[in-house]
Amino acid sequence: MSANPTKSTVGDNLFAGSPTYQMAKTQLEAVAKVMDTPPDVIERLATPKRSLIVNIPIRMENGEIHCFIGYRVQHSLTSGPSKGGLRYAPHVDLGEVAALAMWMSWKCGIMNLPFSGAKGGIACDPAKMSRGELERLTRRYTEEVLPIIGPRVDVMAPDLGTDEQTMAWIMDTYSMKVGHAAPEIVTGKPIELGGCLGRREATGRGVVCCIVEAITELNLSPQETTAVVQGFGNVGSVVAQELAIRGIKVIAVGDRYGSIRNPRGIDIPALLRHVAAGKMVKDFQEAEVIPDADLLTTPCTILVPSAMERVINRDNAPKLKCRILAEGANGPTTPEADDILNNNGVFIIPDILCNAGGVTASYFEWVQDLQQYFWNEHQVNEKLRELMTSAYHRVRALSLRRQIPMRLAALSIGVEKVANEKIRRGLFP
Ligand code: GLU
Repeated sequence: MSANPTKSTVGDNLFAGSPTYQMAKTQLEAVAKVMDTPPDVIERLATPKRSLIVNIPIRMENGEIHCFIGYRVQHSLTSGPSKGGLRYAPHVDLGEVAALAMWMSWKCGIMNLPFSGAKGGIACDPAKMSRGELERLTRRYTEEVLPIIGPRVDVMAPDLGTDEQTMAWIMDTYSMKVGHAAPEIVTGKPIELGGCLGRREATGRGVVCCIVEAITELNLSPQETTAVVQGFGNVGSVVAQELAIRGIKVIAVGDRYGSIRNPRGIDIPALLRHVAAGKMVKDFQEAEVIPDADLLTTPCTILVPSAMERVINRDNAPKLKCRILAEGANGPTTPEADDILNNNGVFIIPDILCNAGGVTASYFEWVQDLQQYFWNEHQVNEKLRELMTSAYHRVRALSLRRQIPMRLAALSIGVEKVANEKIRRGLFP
């Protein structure tokens, strides 16, 4: 170790290889420039509190043993249990998980939830694994991260490549270890196990709450408004459905297997039935197939990336032809693209605000599990709408007052909440 390590070298050495982590750090640096937060507090926030890397050996269907690498990163533990999804995807690495954990902290801060940020992941391709392999992988991962999880310590939820069944296996494994049913160890579980009505739809519904506020502010009428949605999973499919219900024409949709377009508007209920029958989006008859690269650049009023991070970059950002960018995914826009879109006058609803409906409903689920007192779906949806709408207006008001982009305003609110808690609590010992 050098005699005089420069500030934040520690985190850089561990995570620097990840462009997603670099993105999260660049954002934090931008916030530090516009806020009065003491530099030492910013420095504490620049590196995750705790990162665990585990080797997960499991028996595959062919009898062989295969080792997978898993991660759990807790960005902070200051504001309450750390909270965040678990993703299964081939590209998952420590830096990506650390960036996503940091974004969860700011997201919970904006929403005023009593949580800190965390994220987990396993580098694997769930599409190529059997149900048995996925169950063994999930249970063994849970066992390996057991020392750092708990209903008051760290609570997981679904993310890319995981679902309510994954959460059920985690809940069961944890419950077997502690000797009693512990539904509050995860959120996004099946309803029968203490899941929250409306949780699955909550991220998409929250995205649409923000879109509704934005189109009202911009004086756009839903009937003249068109949308393009990237991703047709948990988030994108619900966004498309909720937009269609409000009379907004969804003219193009795509997922990782292909993209389709119909300028007259895609029949979303029919597309949902098509996908529910096990068919691919790209094989939907009443629309034309388009090259994937054309999806994001399709002229529309509202573009909703709801799949992966870093899909809008310096190359395609100048070609985007949308009025509003509503970020359903985490980190879909690189900082270079962000500058280009701001210069082009695109109205950005940033990820940590736009997709915060998921963790907000997770908070409702955790509260219900702790109290063993359950809400109906109407109560969940109403409370979600109320919290999303007020968060949107808090961010918007700061953006207008300080004349800063919506993303910087959202980040500032999130970072400031955590920073103030750190300052108030002081440094131990
Ligand atoms: N994975 C979701 C997200 O990125 C939800 C996290 C949660 O509910 O804890 O916000």
